[in-house]
Amino acid sequence: MIDPLKPYYETIAEMKAKGLYTTHRVVESPQGSWLKVDGKRVLNFCSNNYLGFASDKRLIDAAIRAVRDFGIGPGAVRPLSGNLKLHVAAEEALARFKHAEAAFLLSGGFIANIVAIQTIMGKEDIVISDELNHASIIDAIKIAQVKNKFIYKHSDMKDLERVLQEAAKLAKGKKADGTHPIIMITTDGVFSMDGDIAKLPAIVRLAKKYGAITMVDDAHGEGVLGGGRGIVHHFNLHGKVDIEVGTFSKAFGVLGGVIAGKKELIEYYKQKGRPFLFSTGLTVADTAAIIEAVKVLTKSASLVNKLWDNAEYLKKGFKRLGFDTGVSETPITPVMLGDENLAKNFSAKLFENGVFATPIKYPMVALGKARIRVMPSASHSKKDLDFGLAAFSRVGRELKVLKI
Ligand SMILES: *Cc1c(COP(=O)(O)O)cnc(C)c1O
Repeated sequence: MIDPLKPYYETIAEMKAKGLYTTHRVVESPQGSWLKVDGKRVLNFCSNNYLGFASDKRLIDAAIRAVRDFGIGPGAVRPLSGNLKLHVAAEEALARFKHAEAAFLLSGGFIANIVAIQTIMGKEDIVISDELNHASIIDAIKIAQVKNKFIYKHSDMKDLERVLQEAAKLAKGKKADGTHPIIMITTDGVFSMDGDIAKLPAIVRLAKKYGAITMVDDAHGEGVLGGGRGIVHHFNLHGKVDIEVGTFSKAFGVLGGVIAGKKELIEYYKQKGRPFLFSTGLTVADTAAIIEAVKVLTKSASLVNKLWDNAEYLKKGFKRLGFDTGVSETPITPVMLGDENLAKNFSAKLFENGVFATPIKYPMVALGKARIRVMPSASHSKKDLDFGLAAFSRVGRELKVLKI
């Protein structure tokens, strides 16, 4: 019998032959501004650990203490016997921190997006999505089986209004249960490949005009924008964005997701959200670390400020060298290269020069828009950043991206 999975194995062979197969470098040290990768000490320019929390002693100590007190595993889904006091404390701390009515702790950002969309949106509802939204939003919409999907041009408010007009017409009809379809506008808060910020105030205004609800996935804004409180705080839109999703796997340095919003909505999610009802809650260590991170950020914005200082220093440095860093408004710093192979070679040469920065290329970004996405963090010193810039300068000249 022929193995039904054979086509997949052939795909792998083909990818290897064409040089499209990705290998994953092995990290042999804790996260931080310098890493040991594949046996070599390199400057870390590509992690989402914006605030250095992934190896912060305060978070580690909090996690160890909690594991001693509560054990290592939650034991069951939260609706059964796994609803730990820690989960409840984290949700209260997060709601206070974000100035939201309520917060819902989940085991990841991807899961949080599925809960946020699938639980309230069905086949007959209408989703309006920015064309550059994250894969987890796209998949959440698929899981919800929403049939009426509109995609608007990236951050183009004219185009958003155009599709809202179409959606509003459609929403005049009734669903099988006699109610009108819900229109949801969903957007990334910070677009992860380019670092630009969603035009949330305009989106909220348009949503109100056309009777839509709004959802923002603030994975790269959590811990970064609004003094660490996220995009809703950044734009002072408290209570005006229906659903704010965040993750703790980026700036918070651990794992976990959150949905913040109105108390009644969070209650509904907790009763009906399938990935919550049928999947175990967040680990003890992660939950305790999140509580500690909120404490640290509530006391002082110094880490967030250091991150932004470093980002500005880096962007200025790249510009001075003659690199194009695109349209970023946040610490995400894409060094635009264009060609896929160039980006791949550039990254390999950087590694030889002691800098770890992975290429971002198709299908993560459009074909011909390949780049190295540099991620500064609060734990980088100016000396680290200078080391990185010098390597970019050398490789840039070697590969003729920069003039000699
Ligand atoms: C990273 C990311 C996620 C996924 O978050 P996890 O907590 O890693 O599951 C979701 N949305 C966006 C925009 C992201 O950048």
